[in-house]
Amino acid sequence: MNVLLKIGSLVLRLIARTQNANTTTGYTIRSFRFMWTGYRKEAKVAKYFSDDEVKGLEPKLVEMLDQARESAGVPIIITSGWRSPESNDSAGGVKDSAHTTGKAVDVRAPNDEYGKQVAFGLGHAGFQRAGFYDKHIHVDIDDTKPTPAKWKGESH
Ligand SMILES: [Zn+2]
Repeated sequence: MNVLLKIGSLVLRLIARTQNANTTTGYTIRSFRFMWTGYRKEAKVAKYFSDDEVKGLEPKLVEMLDQARESAGVPIIITSGWRSPESNDSAGGVKDSAHTTGKAVDVRAPNDEYGKQVAFGLGHAGFQRAGFYDKHIHVDIDDTKPTPAKWKGESH
C-alpha cells in the first residue's frame, strides 16, 4: 500500500513538472514568434513596395525601383515582377526572360497623367534597358543583353 502511494505521488510530481515545462516552452515559443514578427517588419525589403511585389527580385533592382519611385514623385505599380519559368510561359514571356532571374519588372503609372513622371523616374534611377508597351513599361538590369536598349511593343 505504501509503495502504491509512493508511486502515485511520484507520477503526480512528474505530471506537475511536465506541465511546468510545457508552460515554459509555450512561453518561449510565443516570445520567439513575437521577436520573429518584429524582425520581419523591420526587414521590409523596399521602401515603397511591399515584400510581395519585390519577391525574388535582385536587391540592386529593388534599390533602383525605390529610387525611381522617389524621383517620379508618384506611385509606380509593378504589374509583373519575378516569374517562375512556368508563370513566365503563361505570361507570354520570352524564353530567356530577365523576369525569371529577378532582374526585370513590368510597371505602369496609376493613370495616364502620371505616365511621364514614371518614365522620368525610371530614367533618373539609371535604367538603361526599357521596353515601352501600350499597357506597361518593362525595365531590366540584365547585362547579358544589349545595353542600353529601348524598344516598343504591345502588352500581351
Ligand atoms: Zn517584362
